[in-house]
Amino acid sequence: MADAPASRAAALDQTRRASAHAAADRAAALADAARSGDRRSLARLLTAVENRTAVAEHALRRLYPLAGGAHLVGITGPPGAGKSTLVAALIAELRGAGRTVAVVAVDPSSPITGGALLGDRVRMQAYAADDGVFIRSMASRGHAGGLAATSTAAAAVLDASGFEVVLIETVGTGQSEVEVAAAADTTVVLEAPEMGDEVQAIKAGLLEVADIVVVNKGDRPGAQRTAAQLRAMLVPSAGRGDDDPARPTPKRPEVLVTTAVTGEGIADLLVALDRHRAEGGDGVTSAARRARAVAQIRSVLVERLWERLGSSARRPVTDGVIAAVAEHELDPYAAADRLLAALSSDEPEEVADER
Ligand code: GDP
Repeated sequence: MADAPASRAAALDQTRRASAHAAADRAAALADAARSGDRRSLARLLTAVENRTAVAEHALRRLYPLAGGAHLVGITGPPGAGKSTLVAALIAELRGAGRTVAVVAVDPSSPITGGALLGDRVRMQAYAADDGVFIRSMASRGHAGGLAATSTAAAAVLDASGFEVVLIETVGTGQSEVEVAAAADTTVVLEAPEMGDEVQAIKAGLLEVADIVVVNKGDRPGAQRTAAQLRAMLVPSAGRGDDDPARPTPKRPEVLVTTAVTGEGIADLLVALDRHRAEGGDGVTSAARRARAVAQIRSVLVERLWERLGSSARRPVTDGVIAAVAEHELDPYAAADRLLAALSSDEPEEVADER
């Protein structure tokens, strides 16, 4: 009676190890191919990252140390402001300068998985013959904070694959999208003159994350006025945050006007992007990098904890605690403490696994 579960567990363990090996091999093959320019492998890797599979984990372990060279640029703003038009114009500008660029278009509400949205297929076609451009949409996989971690992981894969600039374009301005854009080295917030005035942006908490504010649709009346209003608003209050070197200095975003449909102002935007990166030096760069590191580690930690709590040995206890919270017999804080205590009381059993 006692033997059957034990041998089943051993068999399961063996299967698990075999599939981990297979995932590692596949990840290595895909990662190496992606780095040598194979776009199909790169696309597959990004699908794995999006689905948070074992292949993605192995690939990221391999690729992460090779990333860190790309300039990550987040682009956010209300729908209709012209983000995708601006991204297209930026791609053209970057390619004109001989620089390579990848785009991750993040859409948390999209049910579409594992491939480009229709619009991106169209965008991609324009660069079908250009190895220096890669465009990819990502949907979210609905767990808290996961979107920023997933898009950051995707950016790391693109970075390690050699793209010099990675544009992370968000579709809207929900909380998670703002987090995504804010996790970049340089965050661009787009506004359009006819979309109302600056109040809208403040409400969304958007301007707080902006390193560069772009008033797009410069060909429309009111663009310069909106830009002037924004500039007046964004004058930093004197001395705030400057005394304490440990505190991040408040952002003083530059306000630019572009006309994405004609390309006017895009060259200036690129100059501003490069300048922000260069001027950022260690301060800005490391703050953004730290934020990305935190988002990624947190997301993996949560995943790992849930995995361990759901293992067959712990399942009954975990399920019991979940039921108790559902019944309001236990509060969620006590539940979390109890589960953490249970995990740490039998630590050694878990350690033997990897390597
Ligand atoms: P997104 O939702 O922020 O990605 O916005 P889109 O790039 O899809 O643009 C929304 C609409 O605004 C489209 O019809 C664009 O052609 C138009 N648009 C984008 N940039 C400009 C611009 O600089 N001037 C004008 N007049 N229209 C623009």
